[in-house]
Amino acid sequence: MRKTLSFTVLAAMLAAPAFAQSKLNIVTTTEDLAAIGREVGGDHVTIESMARGYQDPHFVEAKPSFILKLQKADLLIAVGRELEIGWLPPLVQQSRNGKIQPGGAAYLDASLGAQILEVPAGQITRAMGDVHPLGNPHYWLDPENGKKIAKEIADKLSELRPNDRAYFQQRLGDFTTRLDAAEKRWLGQLAPFKGTKVVTYHRSFPNFAERFGLDIIGYVEPRPGIPPTPQHTLDLMNEMKRQNVKIVLVEPYFDLKTPNAMGRDTGAQVLVMPPSVGANKEVPDYFKLFDYDINLLVDAIRKSGAK
Ligand SMILES: [Zn+2]
Repeated sequence: MRKTLSFTVLAAMLAAPAFAQSKLNIVTTTEDLAAIGREVGGDHVTIESMARGYQDPHFVEAKPSFILKLQKADLLIAVGRELEIGWLPPLVQQSRNGKIQPGGAAYLDASLGAQILEVPAGQITRAMGDVHPLGNPHYWLDPENGKKIAKEIADKLSELRPNDRAYFQQRLGDFTTRLDAAEKRWLGQLAPFKGTKVVTYHRSFPNFAERFGLDIIGYVEPRPGIPPTPQHTLDLMNEMKRQNVKIVLVEPYFDLKTPNAMGRDTGAQVLVMPPSVGANKEVPDYFKLFDYDINLLVDAIRKSGAK
């Protein structure tokens, strides 16, 4: 019996490839990047996100456990455009992992090829309270940008693992094809409601609105990252009444008090709309995120009769 067992173990060891490459260990800042990274990296990578999809990606609690993950990372993928500037830089520095420092071979800024909206013409600093000083960093909410993010990731993975280039490029092609088909479906779903006027809490949805034909007439926040003030809320409600806006979209991590008060006063529906994969159980991947958000919107627009 003992002999048989050791023979089995030996046979298993011999059957395994002698120098199988270990999986690339990837850390992302957000679950959206992790989801797209999984599409491209397949079983040749392990990917973990630091932020959870139900957290505000601008303000993530920097846990010591993140430093350990970054220490061991073969690649760090960030949203960039200073989305993570409030929490990521000290973690990366303290990881002492030279490869993943900004500019390093194993640091990828996923915004490089993406279409970035709202790039300020003049100089805007965070001192002014605006958390979007380099343009809108919520660019992943346009599937066209999803494809560009996937391409950046595929190219970076191919650079780090040249022998696997064909594998990553094949998966990129497959993802792009599936996303093209899904996008066509999503555009079709929202086509009858083109021009629907909405208000959103934070400026998370400009890319989404531009792609799918929504008209965002205002924001609950006076500026990105600045909480609502009574005067701004009053002005916004007057504008909503003037333009007959019947939908307010709120990211899951904001207080519903002000939006609900606005809804009561204007008759608008208040919808909690996830801007990220992992925001709730129904949005576990990049495709499901758009499925969920678009179904939510279509139902609400039909219900309100708003257009
Ligand atoms: Zn933002």
